[in-house]
Amino acid sequence: MHIPQCPKCGSQKVIKSGVVNNRQRFHCKKCSYYFTVNKIGKKIDDYYVIKALQLYLEGVSLREIERLLGVSHVSVMNWVRKYNIKAPERYDYRPTYKILNHQELQDFISNPANMGGSGMLITELGDKFMLIKWERFKD
Ligand SMILES: [Zn+2]
Repeated sequence: MHIPQCPKCGSQKVIKSGVVNNRQRFHCKKCSYYFTVNKIGKKIDDYYVIKALQLYLEGVSLREIERLLGVSHVSVMNWVRKYNIKAPERYDYRPTYKILNHQELQDFISNPANMGGSGMLITELGDKFMLIKWERFKD
């Protein structure tokens, strides 16, 4: 694991000093300051769990979520079970999604024809944006 700098004095003479609330605690040998850092892996996991469950609720299939987010459909299924997520059983609409950079997103939204008669969800995805769109408000 990467040993961070002391946030107080900037020293790298830092040693591990136990785990508090699932966060690694460190002790600075120079100024005696104690601090904790988030476990980075856990943070990324949570990010993708939420994204995956959002997509699942929008009717995107597990295989499609796997392709979009790069997490296995088995993981997504486990999260659905773990959090007891129940998606509506029947969708009259099928979501479509695009991965856009910031400029492409602006171009898309600036065209009123793209915005009518539908629901949409824009979510950050790495350095791009994912736009999920479905024809929810059409008869
Ligand atoms: Zn220090």
